[in-house]
Amino acid sequence: MKKLTLFLLLLNFLFAANAQQAKRKKAIIVLTYDDGLTSQLNTAIPQLDSAHLTATFFLTGNMTEASLPRWRQAGEKGYELANHTLYHPCLLNVKTNPADNSANYTPYIMVREIKEMNTLLLALDSKTGGRTYAYPCTELEVGGVNYVDTLRKAGLAKYARIGGGPDAVITDFKNLDPLKVPSWGVTGNPVTGDALIDFVKKVQQSGGLGIFMFHGVGGDYLVTPADAHRKLLAYLKAHRNEIEVTTFMKAMDEVMAAK
Ligand SMILES: [Zn+2]
Repeated sequence: MKKLTLFLLLLNFLFAANAQQAKRKKAIIVLTYDDGLTSQLNTAIPQLDSAHLTATFFLTGNMTEASLPRWRQAGEKGYELANHTLYHPCLLNVKTNPADNSANYTPYIMVREIKEMNTLLLALDSKTGGRTYAYPCTELEVGGVNYVDTLRKAGLAKYARIGGGPDAVITDFKNLDPLKVPSWGVTGNPVTGDALIDFVKKVQQSGGLGIFMFHGVGGDYLVTPADAHRKLLAYLKAHRNEIEVTTFMKAMDEVMAAK
């Protein structure tokens, strides 16, 4: 009998310890990758696969016969395929293609384009129930007009990601606008694995939500070196009991529900 009591006590203790641990696991990290780049398919996804971590990819209409099946496969593996418009209109595009200069856009044209990209994503992964969005070049205006509320009224994006620096750790969920969710647009000369991990540590200390915005990984542009990226993933994997790594959609569903 005494043994049973002891056993029950021990069980109780274990459950309490478990609950405590579950309670502590409150830092959320979201890995997002923009522009549908080849280096993401060749380097970021294989690294994520081997670390068993998930992520969100903000795609545009620049897919090709070669890349489209690979993105479809990424969707099948559980990666979130998200909306970054069809043509990536922004002010920086003036030189590359004047047609994609957002100065010549109106909120109506922009929102229509976002809607068409949602349709393309639906054709790609057949997922219903809403999409997340990332503002091209993190600009909230087209043609000098803020289009956040036009997007909100159109109901085409459940959550939308904006830019920010390495201090973009989200802790004030109550006042968080779901269509203006900050992230760290990763830059550096080049960024190191330690700098990436420092951001995660800040999120851990605050018990908040931290979102990475990556572009090239081991190639393309705004490059995060492959070894720095691998180091970050290794850290996240090693601390998976304290850090939840999930998609932008799931992370936002979680924090909005807890609001
Ligand atoms: Zn972009």
